[in-house]
Amino acid sequence: SRASRGVVPEPGGRSHQLTVFHTPVLGHEVVSALAVRPEGTYVDCTVGEGGHAAMILSAVEPPPRLLGIDLDADALRSAQARLSGFEAELSLVQGNYGDVGGLAAGAGFEAADGIIIDAGVSSFQLESPDRGFSFRREERLDMRFDRHQARTAFDLVNRAPAPELAELIRSLGEEARYRRIASAIVAARPIATTTELAAVVVGALGGRHRRIHPATRTFQALRMSVNGELDNLRSGLEQSSALLAPGGRLVVIAYHSLEDRLVKRFMAAESRDCICPLEVTLCECRHRASLRRVNRKVMKASQQEIMANPRSRSARMRVAERLAV
Ligand code: SAH
Repeated sequence: SRASRGVVPEPGGRSHQLTVFHTPVLGHEVVSALAVRPEGTYVDCTVGEGGHAAMILSAVEPPPRLLGIDLDADALRSAQARLSGFEAELSLVQGNYGDVGGLAAGAGFEAADGIIIDAGVSSFQLESPDRGFSFRREERLDMRFDRHQARTAFDLVNRAPAPELAELIRSLGEEARYRRIASAIVAARPIATTTELAAVVVGALGGRHRRIHPATRTFQALRMSVNGELDNLRSGLEQSSALLAPGGRLVVIAYHSLEDRLVKRFMAAESRDCICPLEVTLCECRHRASLRRVNRKVMKASQQEIMANPRSRSARMRVAERLAV
């Protein structure tokens, strides 16, 4: 069946996923939250290797229409291969979901019954040998989702002033020893590769054994800054909410506390009528609720899923439904 694309049977009869394919995080929860219907139209803002998209397309018969967006042209090629068989239902576009309204209009999608944003980096990108995301192999520092973008992690690491580096490692990396790391980076310039950078961070922090590699937070901060991830998420949330048809669902999976806080606050504010500051006694904002929160409590992956797919460890999923306004 079409649902089994991307899954290769093992000699023993069990099937397992090709390692190049990203295993979708909270896949069943996403499909059920979207309440997929054959006549619905769906937008996958971060189609990646098409993991969630494959589940959405095979959730109902006939499959619904789906627009898949990604900044990464390599990921789109991979999604296209994984989703072969769904050509009639599927449109894939290279672009930034921060402009999902414009991209959807361009692809002929006037409104959406469901939108998924699965933020961050894919395993495919982390494992690609030339993308410069991973400190586990020596690669030129890069970290761009979109290889057409001018600014790379190399530029940031080698040209940003120390205070700027320190600030982004503090805020995006949530790293306590950000000043130490920033000074060590500046002192070690030029730094050409991921492993050189990881060694500089390890040197700055000392060799204490920790649960995660000492460079993890610094790499995460650089990646988020290179790709403007929080800004894109902010405008992606606003545009997604505007694109939803009444009753349509917005599903967001965040992997970073700053991202999740943004999603939580956005959904909370959009589900209230007045959002005036507390000290204002008579409403001046004239804000009207446009969303209803479907799960007030954030959803997380089960222990079982985390064991099978470590990327799901930090996943935080929130769902809201568009009101008829
Ligand atoms: N849900 C996908 C995996 C998504 S991983 C699956 O199941 O296969 C996150 C993807 O989002 C990556 O491919 C990354 O390139 C993409 N991405 C990150 N920020 C983006 C943005 N602002 N616009 C479009 N795509 C983005």
